[in-house]
Amino acid sequence: MKEVHYQDIVNSVASMCQDANYELGEDVMNAFKNAAKQEVSFMGKEVLNQLIENANIASSDRVPMCQDTGVSVFIVELGQDCHIVGGSLYDAINEGVRNGYEEGYLRYSIVDDPIHRKNTGDNTPSVVHIELVPGDDLVIHMSAKGGGAENMSRLQMLKPSDGLEGIKNFILETVQIAGPNACPPLVVGVGIGGNFEICAYLAKKSLFRPVGERSDQQHVAKLEEEIMNDVNKLGIGPQGMGGSTTALDVKVELAPTHIAALPVAVNLNCHASRHKKAIL
Ligand code: SF4
Repeated sequence: MKEVHYQDIVNSVASMCQDANYELGEDVMNAFKNAAKQEVSFMGKEVLNQLIENANIASSDRVPMCQDTGVSVFIVELGQDCHIVGGSLYDAINEGVRNGYEEGYLRYSIVDDPIHRKNTGDNTPSVVHIELVPGDDLVIHMSAKGGGAENMSRLQMLKPSDGLEGIKNFILETVQIAGPNACPPLVVGVGIGGNFEICAYLAKKSLFRPVGERSDQQHVAKLEEEIMNDVNKLGIGPQGMGGSTTALDVKVELAPTHIAALPVAVNLNCHASRHKKAIL
């Protein structure tokens, strides 16, 4: 049984919160550079080059790449032979978020109650999903998820008879409705199957996969490619200024579902596609 200490989780989470906001991952930077080479619109190309410059300034000056520093979302793979000592995992993650956002001068974006809307003043509580897995590692995936793109995300309980065409239409419609409001170029996360809450979780989880990485299931990889091509024909373009780069990537995750159901969720991520990983 491996022991992981509370304070190590706190410190690791605090670093991830800052690094995610200051340093755009190599996967997203490479996607920007490739898109800038291929973008057909002058304005689209300009925007992509500005996004690259913005990310470089954020990284070198250690300042947030966007004023919206996001909801801190975690997917934790907890090895069943890993023992957390010194406090609860949830408390450690929230303390790490609190420290990271305060010490990093990152904007606090969470309100305590969706009706009264008083800012909690430290960006907590974070959103934490825990998956129990074999082994003794504690793997923490963190995303600073922007509100603009999250707001344009959608879920629909399709009928099985709607088929692949219905799924594609719903995804394209979601991106079309989002337009510039989701801060494109996007990463489009799609969950298909499961039930109401599982398909939403799958859509979120898909966004933690590196940009540019295809599904290891051949038919899913093919679907990701097809949707990506269709999305990029919509003409929304970088920051909605028009062009051929509406999405940097499309990710699809599947789960078994009920014979009478075809749930589909689309979770959009903006160009500030911020995710970090730590293994303890
Ligand atoms: S959605 Fe993303 S790019 Fe847009 S304001 Fe929020 S964090 Fe920034």
